[in-house]
Amino acid sequence: MPEAHPDSKQTIQDNRDYTLFSWSAQAQTNPIHMVGGQGSHFFDGDGHTWLDFSSQLININVGHQHPKVLQAIKDQVDTMCFAGPSFATDVRAELGRKLAEVTGLAKSFFTLGGSEANENAIKMAKLYTGRDKIITRYRSYHGATMGSMSASGDPRRWPVEPGIPGIVRVFDPYMYRPPMGGSAEAWEDGCITHIEEVIQMEGPHTIAAMLVEGITGSNGLLIPPDSYYPRLRALLDKYDILMIDDEVMSGFGRTGKWLATQHYGVTPDIVTCAKGLTSGYMPLGAVIVNQKIADHFENHFLAGGLTYSGHPVSLAAAIANLKVYEEERLFEHTLEMGRHLGQRLEAMKAKYACVGDVRYIGLFSVLELVRDKATKEPLAPFNGTSPEMARLAAHIKSRFVYAYSRFNFLWVCPPLVVTKEELDHGLDVYEEALALVDEMIGSPVAA
Ligand code: PMP
Repeated sequence: MPEAHPDSKQTIQDNRDYTLFSWSAQAQTNPIHMVGGQGSHFFDGDGHTWLDFSSQLININVGHQHPKVLQAIKDQVDTMCFAGPSFATDVRAELGRKLAEVTGLAKSFFTLGGSEANENAIKMAKLYTGRDKIITRYRSYHGATMGSMSASGDPRRWPVEPGIPGIVRVFDPYMYRPPMGGSAEAWEDGCITHIEEVIQMEGPHTIAAMLVEGITGSNGLLIPPDSYYPRLRALLDKYDILMIDDEVMSGFGRTGKWLATQHYGVTPDIVTCAKGLTSGYMPLGAVIVNQKIADHFENHFLAGGLTYSGHPVSLAAAIANLKVYEEERLFEHTLEMGRHLGQRLEAMKAKYACVGDVRYIGLFSVLELVRDKATKEPLAPFNGTSPEMARLAAHIKSRFVYAYSRFNFLWVCPPLVVTKEELDHGLDVYEEALALVDEMIGSPVAA
């Protein structure tokens, strides 16, 4: 059991006095003082142990403080802490080779995180094709730097509007709420034919790439139907448009495979990744390109570079982290835990009036909450919150389960090392909160 930290309140105050917190008005921030972690748990300065059901922004896949990743970082620090981006290093060779192997692509360009990876992917697609426009989807998030924030579709992009030029957005494979109304079956076809119409109207010769999240994460975990990616791949090929697959959140084991798009049997032209690449132990992202794009840059100038592109300590952390996935058979474990999670989520949907839909793949899952199953009225408005969502979140927090919720969505995304007992405990707490919401909306669960 962790000990209470003597200066916890002061630490929080100093954090608030001297640092800026992301995505919030500073007066509204209420940070937890984190002092350590182990596996699926982290510890706060008041001596509490939290079950981490969000994996720290769906990121710390191998769990907190995995000894093999820690050791690799320490060894690399002792050997060589830094090499500039134009140097060849052992770790750069090893990670590059491994990423080519697991993605079926050719070469990696390293960044510090997901936003920078998307930023560079967009630029490379423009340089390679000589075209300007990028198609993205409305319910998407691609990062917080200027270009990747502009490319995002959700309201987080609004503060930087009009953003970078050339972004064209299309609707999403949101099968629970088809954007044009109508049935999910009709939208399965419509969500592809609609993209073709947009391509034709924009002019295919002006479009460099389409940027998609392999599986949309922070906009409600949208799992496309089986036909979506094969049809999208064929459509983009028809018009010579590149497919950039943002696997920052959905990649590296979260769905039980290296890439979410591997569930659909397609290979993108460019993959961007971060988070699960190192499980967050060191900052690292990558843009991984296919052979044709790699060949293009043999004789064309790759206009761009970062001082920390290829940071040896980050690369060493990634290599060790990927080895943990394989040595500990974590993807198999993810799929096994995911099956149990899926059964429990389906049971929750059947039991609670406020659970409109559940979507899950591996340990990547969400509950979509509603006021009324028949009308599907969301429990909180788009881009907003509600007393019911606030109550739900407060209850889960009071039981020291750390959950990610946004609008009317509540995620279950524990570290991939989570045990069945930990998973069940967290889900039991979620059920207590759902029962409270059912009472608030006037549909209490039958005893
Ligand atoms: N793409 C996706 C799909 C993401 O979920 C995120 C971060 N949540 C990013 C890009 C941005 O990554 P980073 O925060 O590492 O810059």
